[in-house]
Amino acid sequence: MSEHLMNTYARLPIAFERGEGAWLYDSNGKAYLDALSGIGVCGLGHAHPAVTKAITDQAGKLLHTSNLYGIALQAALANELTRVAGMDRAFFGNSGAEAVEAAIKLARLYGHRRNNPQPAIIVAEHSFHGRTLATLSATGNRRVQAGFEPLVQGFIRVPYNDIDALHTVARNSPHAVAVLIEPIQGEGGIQIPDPAYLDAVRKLCAANEWLLMLDEIQTGMGRTGRWFAHQHHDWYPDVMAVAKGLANGVPIGACLARGAAAELFQPGNHGSTFGGNPLACAAALAVIRTIEQEKLIERAGVLGARIVAGLKNAFAGVEGIVDIRGRGLMIGIETAKPIPALTSAGLQHGVLFSVQAEKVVRLLPPLVISDSEADEIVYRVATALIAAMSSAEPQAAGARR
Ligand SMILES: *Cc1c(COP(=O)(O)O)cnc(C)c1O
Repeated sequence: MSEHLMNTYARLPIAFERGEGAWLYDSNGKAYLDALSGIGVCGLGHAHPAVTKAITDQAGKLLHTSNLYGIALQAALANELTRVAGMDRAFFGNSGAEAVEAAIKLARLYGHRRNNPQPAIIVAEHSFHGRTLATLSATGNRRVQAGFEPLVQGFIRVPYNDIDALHTVARNSPHAVAVLIEPIQGEGGIQIPDPAYLDAVRKLCAANEWLLMLDEIQTGMGRTGRWFAHQHHDWYPDVMAVAKGLANGVPIGACLARGAAAELFQPGNHGSTFGGNPLACAAALAVIRTIEQEKLIERAGVLGARIVAGLKNAFAGVEGIVDIRGRGLMIGIETAKPIPALTSAGLQHGVLFSVQAEKVVRLLPPLVISDSEADEIVYRVATALIAAMSSAEPQAAGARR
């Protein structure tokens, strides 16, 4: 690695040269099964021909003109994305953090329009919303915030999956205007709330005229077996942030809004030089088309169930595994304690995953994997995890009844 890169990542000692589907190849030609998809980005896997074609065709025509002019592909993407999301309008930026920033700005405008000069947004513990100043202030992780104080004001923190805490805010905080939460906490360790919690949050937001703003950056684009995770329920959010899987690796983010929230921004309120440029929009349109053509939403549900069942089987009787949980292809394996060198063990066994919140192995495999690739993920993850557990503590781990 270059000493001229800012030292923002403790990188693993490996770099990939090319990919195909769920497979990545390093500079020695060794193959790795990618069960992380570039952190939930490459839902169609690597080098999907539909995305490659969309990008190469568009690159030969037009990359960028700016938002001073009409952009036909951006309009087409807004139509498609609002159609699959059931939302009314879209704003395009270039990342997840920018999508959340737009949501935060919408909530503040919403407050000011309602004569609330100090609008506050309710956010959850253990959440992750990005690394810009406003989004790290919204994030419920001190390690993300430390060293960057003073934080952006105007956030009220509550425990996740605790509806009583939200009722307390409703009683005591007249400045609250919105709730910003992930329908499943991804960086926080695949924390899946009770379905009744999200239903109750929706109701409470309506009763208090708060905007319900969902961060679906990690859960969206088919990952959980629906286009968006809230579609496991029968209601809509007012605002939703989308990014990661939207263009399979071409940077893009979108803030979607519905009803009154969709009418808040007026010319001059918000903008982006690159946001929604023809290249990124062509890629995103290809992603949406491919997800529909290949029926990947349904597939994510089927594959997720297969992997979770396979993992439960593989870890039956293995001490130190606390929980195996998932929704579609967003899967967590929680261990009793942190396992040292776990991701390196994955590399040795040719499988890529991440570890979140110290004790949760996170799997976000591509939606395009075959049944046998799903089984291979189970096999490699289980083998790597059991190996790492037994080298960390030779007495305690291993398959024992
Ligand atoms: C990744 C992520 C973000 C930040 O996205 P960036 O593209 O890294 O800015 C925000 N929220 C959630 C839930 C995420 O998973």
